[in-house]
Amino acid sequence: MTTTWISNPLACWTGTGQTADNGLVVRNGQIVELVARGMVPVTEYDDRFDASDVVILPGLINCHHHFFQTLTRALPAALNKPLFPWLQALYPVWSNLNDDAIYASTQLALSELLLSGCTTAADHHYVFSTIMPHAIDVQVEAARGIGNRVTLTRGSMSLGQSAGGLPPESVVETDNHILSESERLVRDYHNRAEDSLCQIALAPCSPFSVTPELMQASATIAEREDLLLHTHLGETAEENDFCLRTYGERPVDYLEKVDWLNERVWLAHGIHFNDGEIARLGHARTGVCHCPSSNMVLASGTCRTRDLQSAGVRVGLGVDGSASNDGSNLIQEARQAMLTQKLQYGAEQFSHLDALRMATLGGAEILRRPELGSLAVGHQADLALFSLDEPRFSGYGDPLAALLLCGAHRASYVMVAGEWKVKKGELVDNDIGQIMARHSEAAQRLRIEYTKL
Ligand code: ZN
Repeated sequence: MTTTWISNPLACWTGTGQTADNGLVVRNGQIVELVARGMVPVTEYDDRFDASDVVILPGLINCHHHFFQTLTRALPAALNKPLFPWLQALYPVWSNLNDDAIYASTQLALSELLLSGCTTAADHHYVFSTIMPHAIDVQVEAARGIGNRVTLTRGSMSLGQSAGGLPPESVVETDNHILSESERLVRDYHNRAEDSLCQIALAPCSPFSVTPELMQASATIAEREDLLLHTHLGETAEENDFCLRTYGERPVDYLEKVDWLNERVWLAHGIHFNDGEIARLGHARTGVCHCPSSNMVLASGTCRTRDLQSAGVRVGLGVDGSASNDGSNLIQEARQAMLTQKLQYGAEQFSHLDALRMATLGGAEILRRPELGSLAVGHQADLALFSLDEPRFSGYGDPLAALLLCGAHRASYVMVAGEWKVKKGELVDNDIGQIMARHSEAAQRLRIEYTKL
């Protein structure tokens, strides 16, 4: 068993206030010592990694994504549209997804995330069809090949157009089938261990694409099996209108009615809430995943992250689907969060450290993984190391501030569970060229199928 001292970094941000100015020691997948300035480890080590040209961060955590949407980035039919017309343009394309497309897009998105310093990612897959009934099983296999930790959520759509919902019937399933599949996936893949690489959560897509009965039944299963629950909520003003028209209540009232106002729940976007609703979400200790790029591309609005945090809501960060961003780069997303929140609250009210906290500790709180998202003895050895040896950083003062203010975009080294997954800016276990070739072929097939419709 190798014990490695990652030594002498430009800076090491632990996220907890503890210092590790002379790096940290990793053994058996865990952090076993933080080393103070000018000190050497007390722990005996047999390997020393020279970190003198990098900044060390806890591995970044992405709380909301749709890996499959990497296949429809910058699709002409969906450009320059707000959420509902954007979705309606894309549903028919996504109805042609097959297993190979899911495998390729999962591997591409996870590689892209890993290269941006992201060691843990939650994916919300909600498109299932007769040609692709087992997408999550395919994702589990694909994720194993890349090596990030994943929380794969069994998404779903059960309220088709004929019943007043938004999606076409080709991508809608019955509530009973969704629930039995959810239970099977939990049995087959949900690993509850501290060092888990794969967890399952339940994720009906949104109020406008599933039935209230499915929401309620999912909450019952989550309570019984001790699982997390995820959905889109408060993304647009149109969603509020839809809920008032269809259910006679606003989204947070709807959430409460179906037993989703509790700490198992994290919501993607969380923009269009009034003060009273924010207080209720905070009181219930729900989580919200801020997705700044997506919110700007679709012009959905700006999440009130400070107000949510003050009320008690746990706030994390997500890149959202790569058809509304259109990239899967989490360190860039942290910069976007810093910029949008400064604009919203004032330059002094939101710092680069606030954005880094959201991208690390915030995500760990949302995914209930206290052993991730910060660097401390006993925590998992998930690290993201960024070099500042690029023209964009030249002349920097504060190395941590430089990461976000100068626009870091690629990690030099990334470690998951004590194993290097990225070295010198390249994947260790995979050929990114092969992953891209398979992915672009799948994307092209999807576009050809679409033109036949
Ligand atoms: Zn989303």
